[in-house]
Amino acid sequence: MLTHCAHARYVWNLAVEQHAHWRPGRRSAPSFAEQCRQLTEARREHGWLGAGNADVQQQALKDFARAKSARFTSGFGEPTWRRKHVHEGFRVIGTGRVPECHADGSPKLNARTGRPVMGRSVVVRRLSRRWAQVRVPGCGWVRFRLSARGKGAELPGAKTFRVTFRSGRWHVTFAVVPDPVPAPGTGGVVGIDRGVTVTAALSDGRMLNCSQLTVRERAQIRKHQRRAARARKGSPGKAAAYAKVAGLRAREAMRRKDWCEKTSTMLARTYDLVRFEKLNIKTMTRSAKGTVEQPGQNVAQKSGLNRSILAQGWGLLRQRTGHKAPGRVEDVPAPYTSLRCSACGWIDKNSRKSQAEFVCSSCGFTCNADTNASNNVAAGQGGIPRPRRTAGAGGATTATRRPNAREPQPARVGIPLF
Ligand SMILES: [Zn+2]
Repeated sequence: MLTHCAHARYVWNLAVEQHAHWRPGRRSAPSFAEQCRQLTEARREHGWLGAGNADVQQQALKDFARAKSARFTSGFGEPTWRRKHVHEGFRVIGTGRVPECHADGSPKLNARTGRPVMGRSVVVRRLSRRWAQVRVPGCGWVRFRLSARGKGAELPGAKTFRVTFRSGRWHVTFAVVPDPVPAPGTGGVVGIDRGVTVTAALSDGRMLNCSQLTVRERAQIRKHQRRAARARKGSPGKAAAYAKVAGLRAREAMRRKDWCEKTSTMLARTYDLVRFEKLNIKTMTRSAKGTVEQPGQNVAQKSGLNRSILAQGWGLLRQRTGHKAPGRVEDVPAPYTSLRCSACGWIDKNSRKSQAEFVCSSCGFTCNADTNASNNVAAGQGGIPRPRRTAGAGGATTATRRPNAREPQPARVGIPLF
């Protein structure tokens, strides 16, 4: 399978190179069909490439063609180089033959002969509740453990599947677009405020936390990093220590993903409308380092905050909820959601007494700060600051102070105020 990965990567990178050298005015870069012809030639010329699986190599070209055509819509941009140990994977096209269907379930018929159109399908054999096997070219039947979603369900009728290898784990993925989760029809609206201390505060008062590595696991990471640093360059001990670190990091990522999947399903099932505060994670996690001439302040604190923002999986939760409840997810502009009183609408940064406590300086409304923010998000408010009251009208001493154009930054970077 690693050989398949190497061949797929080689073919993909050749395709990237062909397209990278294209400039306006030159002959157009080769199309998928042209690349397939070139691949056949290359396979004839080079024995090592010819010895590999032709389908795996051709699917790499097809993946590239698809990535290229979707470069403006996929969110991944221009397809780029694949690296050894980082982007290991290949696609396998199914060998089974099944009649193709229209969207309404009626069989597709050939217009000329009237016979049903046959399509490719992956043959998956179920071995038990947990285990199944699939045929990989050159490797025979390969057993795999079913993920939580595949466990109870009927095995998918995918046309292809992808095998990937990352941080010491092999995965097999069947691309099937699942049906969206049906709306409960209760008219319920929920607002979600994402933060660092509480991953997701819901406007119904619930505080959801994304599980992270335990103190013990983090200590293990440090231990193995230390061992790797002290081991001789290129020694097996160094590689083993790095593999341990990668394994723990993979565990962290999988835990986060699992949490996002479960939470997004719960949200899609329980509420008709889900509102997220609009965050720009890219700008929020921008480095504070600055330049040599103008060094930034609190660089270490900001990088620590960045790490915890990225570790929270905020983007993934929003993305997966959008997939599961299409058309039922909204983004509410974020400024002032954490400073606005959800009872009277008064915006004052002094209302937020601490990380957790919110006491309105105008009406005295008291609430958990995260719940208050999520209530604002649920109401779809927070974006436009209310017209400034004149001094005395609100009774608040800070009413004369004009709020900053941006949401006031936390005094210490360690205390987030989102
Ligand atoms: Zn108030």
